[in-house]
Amino acid sequence: MNRRLPGTFNQCQRHLFASSHPVSPAFSTRFLSTSRVNHERQECQVLVVGGGTGGCAMAAKLSSRLGSNKVIVLEPEDKHYYQPMFTLIGGGMKRLDQSYKQMADVLPKKAKWVKEKAVEFDPDNNTVSTSGGKTIKYDFLVIATGLQLKYEKIPGLVEALETPESNVCSIYSPKYVDHVYDCLRRTYKGNVIFTFPHCPIKCAGAPQKIAYISDHYFRKMGRRDDVNVIYNTSLPVIFGVKHYADALMKLVEKRNIKLNVNRNLVEVRSSENIAVFEDLVKPGQLYEEKYSMLHVTPPMTAPDVVANCKQLVTPTGFVDVDQMTLQHNKYTNVFSIGDSACTPNSKTAAAAAAQSPVVFKNLIAVIEGKAPTDIYDGYSSCPIVTGYNSCILAEFDYTLTPVETFPIDQAKERYSMFFMKKELMPVLYWKLMMKGYWNGPALMRKMFSILNFNKK
Ligand SMILES: Cc1cc2nc3c(=O)[nH]c(=O)nc-3n(C[C@H](O)[C@H](O)[C@H](O)COP(=O)(O)OP(=O)(O)OC[C@H]3O[C@@H](n4cnc5c(N)ncnc54)[C@H](O)[C@@H]3O)c2cc1C
Repeated sequence: MNRRLPGTFNQCQRHLFASSHPVSPAFSTRFLSTSRVNHERQECQVLVVGGGTGGCAMAAKLSSRLGSNKVIVLEPEDKHYYQPMFTLIGGGMKRLDQSYKQMADVLPKKAKWVKEKAVEFDPDNNTVSTSGGKTIKYDFLVIATGLQLKYEKIPGLVEALETPESNVCSIYSPKYVDHVYDCLRRTYKGNVIFTFPHCPIKCAGAPQKIAYISDHYFRKMGRRDDVNVIYNTSLPVIFGVKHYADALMKLVEKRNIKLNVNRNLVEVRSSENIAVFEDLVKPGQLYEEKYSMLHVTPPMTAPDVVANCKQLVTPTGFVDVDQMTLQHNKYTNVFSIGDSACTPNSKTAAAAAAQSPVVFKNLIAVIEGKAPTDIYDGYSSCPIVTGYNSCILAEFDYTLTPVETFPIDQAKERYSMFFMKKELMPVLYWKLMMKGYWNGPALMRKMFSILNFNKK
């Protein structure tokens, strides 16, 4: 195993001691941690970088277990967004102000919030430098910095998004999501194009959810005969899990949605209403498509600050963790959760929920000098909203095998799943997950299987 113990003398001593003398949490909390707050130098037992979905859930779990002021959360934003609601905002079903809460009200009170950005990681010395000039020294680190949106990678796109008349929009950013419904309302005819970029993205179902919602919108308004709904995806298939892909292929055929695979948006010429796509099977072959509305899912990457720390990441810039234990492959005191981890699961809040007990248990094990043994199976879920009253609930694992919770055929469009997505999931997110109490539906799934319900 190519694992290196953390670099500082104290940290080394601590690990050597811990590996031969497992210690109680009380001991480790009292003697192994320091939470002194200095002017420019701070110390903590666990530093969580990123206070979004995964970071906040972890901070809640850890601070509740370790006690007050043992955990620092480094997070620069004022607002914490429940991003899965953005798709519904795009369809006019929710408002932007329903999708967020103040960060101060969401982060756990027992953790200390440093409202700054991480600007440099130094895992050999167990420190992170911040945008405010602080150096935070940690015993253990959880990286939960998510993905960054790279609209600027597509020439002409930012200008188009910032020109409201251009009818170019995107549900992916709180800055642009409100404009999506405006675009829908003023589109009466022509090509309405939806894109999916050539890179890993968060919620790979969202680009097609907004296409289905839009299709339903135009039908409700009696405009569908004059509108061509086109879904251009860089992927070779509509969805990575065959069980759901089969159902979705039937849906696009039934709804007369034109699906183009291997087609990647490379430029937007908004003054001419033209989007330029590259055929990924014939690199260099470009297609110009005229649009009356263009919905763009932007390219995404791991945040630069993470990607720049070469010791911490894989060549693609994601945190180099073991895909089962979520512990760093070199630095045993580092874990990652959510979209910034290199794990090959579908990047969703649902995945972060399922990862959170694994990171928690394994991190506590390492604090106690034990080996991390809890395993993440790659669970992710994607409620594929297919209109204003229907949804397919996709759930699957690393092997792309369906792992369904409910004793019904989840590949079928259902109102019950739509209601759950629209009304129940936000409550579950704020009231349970952000407080560290939601570990995904594995328990519920077990219960249904013990009761031995047959699938209908
Ligand atoms: C349109 C849309 C629809 C979606 N639909 C669904 C859905 O239906 N179901 C589902 O489960 N998931 C969905 N998701 C995905 C889900 O929101 C993400 O997968 C989830 O939020 C990832 O959690 P995270 O903690 O990794 O990242 P985030 O929640 O994005 O949090 C990252 C945090 O890190 C902070 N950060 C970044 N850089 C730094 C830095 N340098 N220093 C300190 N902090 C930093 C950010 O400010 C942010 O708060 C959707 C997302 C979008 C955008």
